[in-house]
Amino acid sequence: MISYIGLGSNLDGPVEQVKTAVNEISLADGIRVMAVSGLYRTAPVGPQDQDYFINAVMKIETSLSPEDLLKRLQEIEHLHHRIRTVHWGPRTLDLDILLYGNDTVDLPHLSIPHPEMKRRGFVLVPLLDIAPDLVLPDGSSVSDLVRLLDPDDLKISPVVL
Ligand code: AMP
Repeated sequence: MISYIGLGSNLDGPVEQVKTAVNEISLADGIRVMAVSGLYRTAPVGPQDQDYFINAVMKIETSLSPEDLLKRLQEIEHLHHRIRTVHWGPRTLDLDILLYGNDTVDLPHLSIPHPEMKRRGFVLVPLLDIAPDLVLPDGSSVSDLVRLLDPDDLKISPVVL
């Protein structure tokens, strides 16, 4: 199945956190990386007294079920000593399953498509990089969603590495 993963970090060297996570995901059994977006620097959602985030999106092919994929990603988050004290607060690494083929998953601990993805510039802009023609299960296209974003949600800029 083709799946898209969102990555984010704003603690402890976020660029390195995201690059390391891409590498760890690429080494996981049952996952093959097909594309990785550029890295973007984005303003934090929620509490503003925290550093900017570094965000990226990757396209993978996976033989894992959505729940096994979530478990694997959570193991990788834990490797990064993720600190989760404040909701929407700082984190060393956040991995989200954005899409899993055209499937919809509605479990207490797992919602796919990711419920916030349609209004988040830091997800949609990197996603557009690697999947310009992508259409979500509800029929909305990523390019249309980017055009509909509020200018505030577009406060993101490519990271020059
Ligand atoms: P957060 O730290 O705010 O990203 O929330 C993490 C929690 O979101 C995890 O415990 C997951 O069980 C839950 N979750 C629900 N849907 C998803 C998804 N599509 N991808 C990753 N986590 C998810």
